[in-house]
Amino acid sequence: MIKIALAVVILGNNSIPIAKKITSVMPGAQLYGLAGRTCDVDVSFTEFGATLRELFTNGVPIIGICATGILIRTLAPLLANKRQEPPVLAVAEDGSAVVPLLGGLNGVNSLARQIAEVLGVKPAITTTGDIRFGIALEDPPVGYRLANPDDAKSFMSDLLAGNSVRLEGNAPWLMNSSLPIAQDAERVIQITEKQVVPTSTRLVYHPTTVAIAVSRTSPPAPSHKQGRVMKMEWGSEEIALVQQMLVDAELAPASVAGVFASTLDAANPALQAIADALNVTVRFFTPDEIAAVMSQNNTVDVAAAAALAASSGQLVMQRQTSDFSCAIALAELAEGIALLPIHINTTGRPRGRLTIVGTGPGGSNWMSPEVKKVLSNATDLVGYSTYLKLVGSLGKGKRWHESDNREEIARARMALDLAAEGRLVAVVSSGDPGIYAMAAAVFEVLEKEAKPEWQGIEIQVAPGISAMQAAAAKIGAPLGHDFCTISLSDILKPWSIIEQRITAAAQADFVIAFYNPVSKQRTWQLAEAKNILLRYRHPDTPVVLARNLGRSGESIQVCTLEHLVPELADMRTVILVGSSKTRMIERCDGSIWVYTPRHYDSPSHKSDRSS
Ligand code: SAH
Repeated sequence: MIKIALAVVILGNNSIPIAKKITSVMPGAQLYGLAGRTCDVDVSFTEFGATLRELFTNGVPIIGICATGILIRTLAPLLANKRQEPPVLAVAEDGSAVVPLLGGLNGVNSLARQIAEVLGVKPAITTTGDIRFGIALEDPPVGYRLANPDDAKSFMSDLLAGNSVRLEGNAPWLMNSSLPIAQDAERVIQITEKQVVPTSTRLVYHPTTVAIAVSRTSPPAPSHKQGRVMKMEWGSEEIALVQQMLVDAELAPASVAGVFASTLDAANPALQAIADALNVTVRFFTPDEIAAVMSQNNTVDVAAAAALAASSGQLVMQRQTSDFSCAIALAELAEGIALLPIHINTTGRPRGRLTIVGTGPGGSNWMSPEVKKVLSNATDLVGYSTYLKLVGSLGKGKRWHESDNREEIARARMALDLAAEGRLVAVVSSGDPGIYAMAAAVFEVLEKEAKPEWQGIEIQVAPGISAMQAAAAKIGAPLGHDFCTISLSDILKPWSIIEQRITAAAQADFVIAFYNPVSKQRTWQLAEAKNILLRYRHPDTPVVLARNLGRSGESIQVCTLEHLVPELADMRTVILVGSSKTRMIERCDGSIWVYTPRHYDSPSHKSDRSS
């Protein structure tokens, strides 16, 4: 599941300007709005309490543009564990106040400072240590992890009561604070990547200065298309090796910044297993980056090169098994001069992801929550410009790679190349991406061109509502029994095949959904399809023509097969031709329902076991 980075919750449209200011600086933030009172939001909810409590329980940081009291009363029953609670802030509707409420140990004050800066106000910070010394001991900045958080509160109280503190190690954020530092102080704050024992008078911060890198030294065992055996315990041997190396090097696991590897190894599931065991993420370097470090450092080991690339420091340990190499490097120059922690989000790149999404036919109410999440997390959107426009506000702040509708293969190749660079790419199709759309184009290029750097990309298809489903829903239930789809475009297949399929579908008495029925240059195909159908179907067979579904200019027309003419359709029309059983129901207002019964009346088909 893709986790929401942050939820901005609003109860009315008046809050939208402030909410948008906040979401514009918070990557991955989702705008939650009360249904009926808000529009143009990412997620529309009806139950304020239930929605807020679900977000909170899932650890999602919450910014409520509402009164503090509402947030406090809603979340009060859940306040049991301050170590686990996500940041919760209240922001005044006019942006004049930013009040951090909960999540003091999870960065609420720094989030409040960040938001206050965007809104041009001072945050209402009330934590004494924060105010007096300019830091929160329990909530160190990115790059440092506190080994003994349970001791931090009383440690801070002692300092507030007048005691001083000695620093051992290097941490600019502590040096630059207003802490009462004294060389002879009894209380110590130690900054070290070594495994040490903290006490109530010795706070220990582990800087993320350790890089672990792994590589495969032999190619994976060949897989067979049939009967492929998956290794289930992926990574257990590798995890044990990494953990032993950390023990032998006397390094604290909390100092591990991340697991690093070459993009060529990205599909190796052991990488994620090791990262999960250490509670860190995996980042990658391209073969070129690895090669550069190899030649600078005179090594041929990919793991060693990746560890050096990540740390810019020194190798401290290297080990190999029969098919796996592991290296540990420290962000430290010779003679113990410490470099700054490794910042995982700016070192290397994440595993590239390519998701081929279907937006549904048009409006956002027909777009799945999964597709919305993928779009909001994407860094790059690839697609035909008309479809990219369908994603609305979810497309803001991303790199757009627009192209002509006919350049599908080039578009698929570009999307794969972008994902191989570590970008989070969404290829956007209208309707369903697997129906006459980009998903097949991506797999076609992936198979035919098979570039090695594409091997590591995580590929996923996120479905959408196809035009035929939307058309059917608008008019009743014409697809209620067996049906098929046929594209009338003869650009990708010869007309002789299309003709054969129409004939077979007509003989089989399928309801037929015609995609790409006509275009400016192609009109005779629909007339020809009608002629074939009339050989097998009654001239009164109902036909549904649905145009611009979910978009402006939507229209649904019903006619009979006999009256179907190409002028009734265009390239944004999907046509549903009924079977011999499809029926029309006329209503008193003159409108029509079309449906295909699930029952065939012949006696041998009377028992219907479907529900
Ligand atoms: N992937 C799309 C189909 C793409 S092929 C889907 O699953 O819907 C393009 C054809 O789809 C068009 O020629 C038209 O026949 C149909 N189509 C796509 N969007 C439509 C819409 N909003 N209204 C009606 N027909 C649509």
